[in-house]
Amino acid sequence: MNLTDIRELDNIDPFARHRKQFQLPVNKVYLDGNSLGAMTKATATRLQQVIQQQWSQDLISSWNEHNWINLPQHVGEKIARLIGAAPEQTICCDSISVNLFKALAAALSLAQSHDSERNIVLSTKDNFPTDLYMVQGISQFVGEHRCQLKLVDENELEQQIDDKTAIVLATEVNFRTGRRLDAKQLITSAHSHGALVILDLAHSAGAMPVHLDDWEADFAVGCTYKYLNGGPGAPAFIYAAKRHHQNMSQPLSGWFGHARPFDFTPDYEPATGIQQMLTGTPSILAMAAIDSALEAFENVDLEKLREKSLQLAEVFHQLLEDAALGSSLQLISPQQREQRGSQLSYRYEHAYGLCQALIQRGVIADFRAPNYIRFGFTPLYNSFEDIWKAVEQLRQVIEAKEHLDSRWQSRNTVT
Ligand SMILES: *Cc1c(COP(=O)(O)O)cnc(C)c1O
Repeated sequence: MNLTDIRELDNIDPFARHRKQFQLPVNKVYLDGNSLGAMTKATATRLQQVIQQQWSQDLISSWNEHNWINLPQHVGEKIARLIGAAPEQTICCDSISVNLFKALAAALSLAQSHDSERNIVLSTKDNFPTDLYMVQGISQFVGEHRCQLKLVDENELEQQIDDKTAIVLATEVNFRTGRRLDAKQLITSAHSHGALVILDLAHSAGAMPVHLDDWEADFAVGCTYKYLNGGPGAPAFIYAAKRHHQNMSQPLSGWFGHARPFDFTPDYEPATGIQQMLTGTPSILAMAAIDSALEAFENVDLEKLREKSLQLAEVFHQLLEDAALGSSLQLISPQQREQRGSQLSYRYEHAYGLCQALIQRGVIADFRAPNYIRFGFTPLYNSFEDIWKAVEQLRQVIEAKEHLDSRWQSRNTVT
């Protein structure tokens, strides 16, 4: 594959025009959209507007006049289309960690209303740590007889579900390896044992089609600052299937989840529907940013987006092999395309140094302990030429042994 072939792929790329909606860093190749998505030009304009007009001039009246009050619902519905959810089941708020707390508490009490002996939250050892930490926190709070975390190998997750399982807590795409689970099959299996499923879509939403309703998912959480480009620390989302709304409850019963918050009554009465998942006042600047960032997804065919994401990864790996780097960098992501998310991870002895040396040369990837380097592919704004440039820089770094530089002996706080 040569540069002409690569440019031809860009010429026929149906998403090439989407790249222009983003304000990408100059002279850099950004392959870290799975950690922090790029900024759209519309977002910069929107934030200016919110600051200059809504906040500074219209002040408190903006809650009604500019519909700030409904932003969590409004943004939630935009996300719903991307995760296969019919309206009124998705809302944008808080962080994944906090939303996990709410989903775990809601699902535990639903499961235990049928069978008080069910206390196991089943998850994988290699799950994203915050998912496991949140279960550990709840377990300490309510006691192990109500909530006990059981960790198993990713390969065994489905087989380990049994009649003691209250919740299966699974992340669809593993953040380290980029491996994608068969969420539909997992949900079917869990339901056959009477267990509920909470899916973490941090590395799925915006990168590939998700079909929560079709899969009969129970609860899901996800991120907006990764593939959805909402900005650093942008609020997350939470989904709860409509069939659970009537009977579910969550203990972070703040006033925004109240049926009539502006009645200011002393007793909590949850809102019906997904709104009961809200807790406190939403961060409007952050909500406005994610709201405008999602415009980039209007009319995007997620099947086609997925196809491009897989193709970017395939071209990356092929170029790596062509450059005879395939033996020193060991692919730990699955070989089969349907089992992959939108990233490739490689094991490399000097992964941290390699990552830093690449960043010096303007190729932004990231390092994950103990010795992995991750390349995230964001099909809305990455071009095939980005991939070409990244592999070329990688080749030069290794050839010049820049990854062994003594500057990379100690690590930064955020890797
Ligand atoms: C990024 C990520 C999170 C982040 O959680 P926050 O509480 O929003 O910081 C959670 N889970 C997974 C799988 C992630 O990749």
